Amino acid sequence: MNSLRTSQYNLRRREQRARESLDERFQRRSARNAADRLRRARARSDQQMANRVNSQAETNVSEHDCGMMTEICNYCQALYWRNELNSSNKYTKCCHDGKVRLPNLAETPDLLKELLTNNSLEARNYQKHIREYNAALAFASMGA
Ligand SMILES: [Zn+2]
Repeated sequence: MNSLRTSQYNLRRREQRARESLDERFQRRSARNAADRLRRARARSDQQMANRVNSQAETNVSEHDCGMMTEICNYCQALYWRNELNSSNKYTKCCHDGKVRLPNLAETPDLLKELLTNNSLEARNYQKHIREYNAALAFASMGA
C-alpha cells in the first residue's frame, strides 16, 4: 500500500519535472543543493560536537577493573567476582544454592552439527551466513 503511494508520488513528481522550464529546473536544483550543503554542514557540526563530548568523557572517566571471576558456586560451578556476595556471604544469583536445576540441552541434530563443524562448501556457506539463516528460519521451528 505504502509503496503504491510512493510510486504514484514519484510518477507525479516525474511528470511535474518533465513540464518545468529550464529556469524552474535551475531554481529547484539550486534549492535542493543549498539544502544538501546545509544538512552536510549540520551533520559535520554534530559529529564535531559528539567527538568533543566523547574525548572529554574519555579523559574524565577512569578505568574500572573488576579483576578476574575467581569465585565459583559450589552447586553449579557458575563463576562470580568476589564482590558479588550477597548479605549472607553467598553467591546465589545462579541456582539459589542448588534449588534451581535445569535439564541438559538436547543433542544437536546431525545436520546442524555437520554444518557447524565441517569444512565443506555448504558448511562454509552456512557458517558465513549463519545470522541470515537464523533470521530466515526463526519461525520455522515454532510449534503450537
Ligand atoms: Zn549456582
